[in-house]
Amino acid sequence: MNIHIGDSIIHASATLEEADRLMTVCNSCRYCEGLCAVFPAMEMRRAFSDGDLNYLANLCHGCGACLSDCQFAPPHEFDVNVPQTLARLRGDTYQAYVWPKSMAVAFERNGVWMTVMTAGAIALFICGFVMWNDPAVLFGSHEGAGAFYRLMPHNAMAGLFLLVTLYAAVAAAMGVRSFWLDIGEPLATLRQPGSIWQAIRDAGSLRYLDGGGVGCMNDDDTPTDRRRLYHHLTFYGFALCFLSTSMATGYHYLLGIEAPYPWYDLPVVLGTLGGIGLVTGPLGLLHAKWRRDPQLLDAPRLGMDIAFILMLFLTGLTGLLLMALRTTPAMGLLLAIHLGVVFSLFLSMPYGKFMHGIYRFLALVRYARERRMMNEGH
Ligand code: SF4
Ligand code: SF4
Repeated sequence: MNIHIGDSIIHASATLEEADRLMTVCNSCRYCEGLCAVFPAMEMRRAFSDGDLNYLANLCHGCGACLSDCQFAPPHEFDVNVPQTLARLRGDTYQAYVWPKSMAVAFERNGVWMTVMTAGAIALFICGFVMWNDPAVLFGSHEGAGAFYRLMPHNAMAGLFLLVTLYAAVAAAMGVRSFWLDIGEPLATLRQPGSIWQAIRDAGSLRYLDGGGVGCMNDDDTPTDRRRLYHHLTFYGFALCFLSTSMATGYHYLLGIEAPYPWYDLPVVLGTLGGIGLVTGPLGLLHAKWRRDPQLLDAPRLGMDIAFILMLFLTGLTGLLLMALRTTPAMGLLLAIHLGVVFSLFLSMPYGKFMHGIYRFLALVRYARERRMMNEGH
């Protein structure tokens, strides 16, 4: 709850104060209203609470078009930099909503190291587990149904990943609850199929990552649509890998067919296509991040962003290598590394960029509800 002094609102942080100042300037100017959802959502308001500003920050896709188009951008004395201020605010919301806070601090300070070390520790644990039982298994060639489970029984593997998935789901749900309460949106909005469907369409096509039709800005001020393409490759690559794993689980428990499966079987085809997306998409995103105008970035928080993208890339790469070399003596080591990377990816999901995808989707749900009400004249 914000404190009001006259017409002014006292905000909880300097970044929120700055976001309020910028939204007030933009609300008078309105030059950028066709660029994305942030400006129309802003125009529906005269004053901005902390929750409103956090909602707008998560509605922003960081395309950079409003900085490039702004006549009041630095070095103008108005110093209007909407993308960077909203990026900082988004970063603050990750921290504010995250659960548990202690894990968030560890991941935020040392994102890349934490994820790499977690992946390495789990891979070592699996190697140690195998060596303890039978050292010959780790470096032997295994073929046929159940080959993967000669290293580690299926139930132990499934139990390990069930635990980390449940943990990530609970932590993400706590973050979602905090976000929804903060922006002050009623629960009933989540029961509106029209708003949900509109948000799915907007998120699925990354409608607001196109800078009003020209693409995202880079350090040379030339807009391109590549960032949207890399996001699509990453998202759909991840979705296909998830579908492949779910199908393989169904094969195992419902049909009694054990992995590895032949190259033409659906879990392998989906996993291979997903793996290609997870290698090419994150590589493109890392390259695009490298080339981004520093004025658009929240530099102190880059580590956790990069850690998440790196883990996605390594998940795709180790998965593809495992597929290609699964009948060779390298399979044992590759499987341990792949499982370590996937475990680390799931563990770090609630603490970085992954949550922004969820908050952004929820912000789009709210925006769809607001637009519909406005069009209906409420
Ligand atoms: S970003 Fe600049 S040009 Fe765009 S609405 Fe705000 S003040 Fe106007
Ligand atoms: S950076 Fe792009 S998405 Fe964000 S407010 Fe500006 S134009 Fe909209």
